[in-house]
Amino acid sequence: MSSFIETEEQQELRKAVAAMAANYGQDYYLEKARAGQHTTELWQEAGKLGFIGVNLPTEYGGGGAGMYELSLVMEEMAAAGSALLMMVVSPAINGTIIAKFGTDDQKKRWLPGIADGSITMAFAITEPDAGSNSHRITTTARRDGSDWILSGQKVFISGIDQAQAVLIVGRTEDHKTGNLKPALFIVPTDAKGLSWTKIEMELISPESQFQVFLDDVRLPSDALVGSEDAAIAQLFAGLNPERIMGAASAVGMGRFAITKAVDYVKTRQVWKTPIGAHQGLSHPLAQNHIEIELAKLMMQKAAALYDSGDDAGAAEAANMAKYAAGEASVRAVDQAVQSLGGNGLTKEYGIAAAVTASKLARIAPVSREMVLNFVAQTSLGLPRSY
Ligand SMILES: Cc1cc2nc3c(=O)[nH]c(=O)nc-3n(C[C@H](O)[C@H](O)[C@H](O)COP(=O)(O)OP(=O)(O)OC[C@H]3O[C@@H](n4cnc5c(N)ncnc54)[C@H](O)[C@@H]3O)c2cc1C
Repeated sequence: MSSFIETEEQQELRKAVAAMAANYGQDYYLEKARAGQHTTELWQEAGKLGFIGVNLPTEYGGGGAGMYELSLVMEEMAAAGSALLMMVVSPAINGTIIAKFGTDDQKKRWLPGIADGSITMAFAITEPDAGSNSHRITTTARRDGSDWILSGQKVFISGIDQAQAVLIVGRTEDHKTGNLKPALFIVPTDAKGLSWTKIEMELISPESQFQVFLDDVRLPSDALVGSEDAAIAQLFAGLNPERIMGAASAVGMGRFAITKAVDYVKTRQVWKTPIGAHQGLSHPLAQNHIEIELAKLMMQKAAALYDSGDDAGAAEAANMAKYAAGEASVRAVDQAVQSLGGNGLTKEYGIAAAVTASKLARIAPVSREMVLNFVAQTSLGLPRSY
């Protein structure tokens, strides 16, 4: 895409994803979440139709398109009320990192499954004592012959219970200096010494979060992704896609909330006209719509820059898009609840369920404050406080 107008192919893709997602929708999503089940049917169908791997190379079973197309898939699924977090993790972060930096064997082993959804790969960087400061992570890999032995702890790891493998961001010791440097490892979820416990969240989601423990997990040498010296570049390769997908999810959720509210206020009547005629309701909804459209434009810019290979430009736009979409979707969900009055808080109307979920876009994958730090320092050249 070189202009603001999507190609016919991209428009077709939007329609196809929206049509598939509409067959599931929010009722299905919440039903599964409340029953403690996963949305396996939706995941499998999205994989079969080529949506999950749309950004991955064709030679490994992907669609050969880019982050633009993957973000569009995410947005449309979220707009139907069924945003899947594992879309951010499996094809966007992990698929991208392996496709760009993996060895031929790693690509052959993991990418076709990630692309068709038969393999889900979780992603683990966050640690209890490091949080937003990922320079402080302490999960460490040491050599034992040609094997690696990995030990540490991770927190808030989405969907590891559904995953066949998890990409762990750890550290290794530099032979020469003794300093620790980042390194990425693919760990099969049935590896000995890997375990997890569920974190009870007040989030109605079919995908759960886990505390993960690595207790001397022995891995073969080819568990290390690409080269030991390229981990920082590898990590950065996954960050822009993650933020673009975070933005896409929030844009979709904002659209979902606005649609629900608009449908409701068009017909609900308690005075002479439908309540949607009152500017106390119509103006905030119009404002929400503008804010979501603006966030979407930045998301599209970020994806277009990323796909064109401009990583620095994409980083600024992806951070801004994630911020803008998070803020806009929180406000859209809040206004949707208000527009529905008492029904805004019922189970039946399904909008209250989005209140906590909408806050996620302010916290993960990178918090609102850390985006503001990035923009203050990188775009504005201001000094750091931390
Ligand atoms: C539902 C969910 C799913 C997740 N999935 C994954 C996953 O799959 N894999 C994974 O690795 N992680 C995952 N995360 C973790 C997520 O990325 C972190 O929660 C997030 O990065 C924030 O880290 P933290 O929770 O440790 O907060 P902290 O770093 O403790 O931050 C707490 C608050 O302090 C603020 N703060 C911190 N430092 C600064 C500063 N320098 N300036 C200003 N403010 C600051 C933050 O913005 C935030 O508001 C998930 C989280 C959630 C909630």
